[in-house]
Amino acid sequence: MRTIALLAGLLPVLASAAQAAPLTSVSITPWRGDARGAHTIAHDDYCSPGVSGIEKNALPILEARGLKAAVGVIGKECKPADWARLKELIAKGYEPFNHTLSHSGELEAGTLAAVKGWDAKREILDAHALMLEKTGYRFSFIGYPFDLASPETRAMVKQQPDYLGARAAKHLYDGSMAGLNTDEGDPYFVKWDVYWTDGKWSLYKPGAAGSILIQHAEAAINSGSWTFRTMHGVADGSWEAVPLAEYTAYADYLKQQADAGKLWIATPTEVIRYRETRRYCSVKLDSKGIQFDTSATDCKRYAIPVTLAITAASAPVLQQGSKKLAVKAAGDKRWLVEADPLAGPVLVQ
Ligand SMILES: [Zn+2]
Repeated sequence: MRTIALLAGLLPVLASAAQAAPLTSVSITPWRGDARGAHTIAHDDYCSPGVSGIEKNALPILEARGLKAAVGVIGKECKPADWARLKELIAKGYEPFNHTLSHSGELEAGTLAAVKGWDAKREILDAHALMLEKTGYRFSFIGYPFDLASPETRAMVKQQPDYLGARAAKHLYDGSMAGLNTDEGDPYFVKWDVYWTDGKWSLYKPGAAGSILIQHAEAAINSGSWTFRTMHGVADGSWEAVPLAEYTAYADYLKQQADAGKLWIATPTEVIRYRETRRYCSVKLDSKGIQFDTSATDCKRYAIPVTLAITAASAPVLQQGSKKLAVKAAGDKRWLVEADPLAGPVLVQ
């Protein structure tokens, strides 16, 4: 009993010793969890009968590894069971994105000739309204069919309040739509790499199983960027379908890198929100702890919780509102903590 009483008496002393170490710097890490890079898994043409392997093969493989993907929805192709399934996927943290109403496209892939009867409002805005009506979900990202779109169509999307980003699309081929995205890139021109079995139009060449897919994820880690992987089906009859062994090797690699804290696997809107929060909601130290500057309109528009990297001689005890924040040691007097810019100052206890 005496020992317990003694220890109890010591506790406030220990707590105040921790309190004594001031924070010496704070910043928002480029990617969540202080990962070296970010990566998005995306499957186009969802609801089209040709890509049955997304549901049959890809999603169970991802699910088993706790990975979330984005699916490009062709609105007109969705049946009642697809809408119900999309609702489930949304609840699990997957992100459906607008891949237009009919996928007729604005420009022919290859020739770049205008597609007869294209109507941007019908293809994009009606697809948006249909998704909202059937699932209650508002798309916030778009991938144009064949990644081709006129400047007018792209400008129309940018004016829609729900759209926070778009996959890079052009009205001419100039080779710059594929690539890596920096931590300050344009959210309406998110570069990608499309899976191509023999690597013909990919940034990479095939090698060991999963090679083309893995190289694009690895590029994010090596260059500190965000890479976006576009695929269609998996082991089905779809356009350039990914073989099962390739996909499994890719998913294993992603899980391994995510578990090691090197790669942040996230859906497009989550990465865009994170990146814009970092850009528009600045952080600084003050005498009580950490203050977010949320005065910018774009801070309020994009804000999501972000990872703060703090330096302090010892582990800080931090609180935001009534919530105690979990502090993770990152070595060399660095500490990581997740905080929400819209939840008020982070106070040192
Ligand atoms: Zn497509």
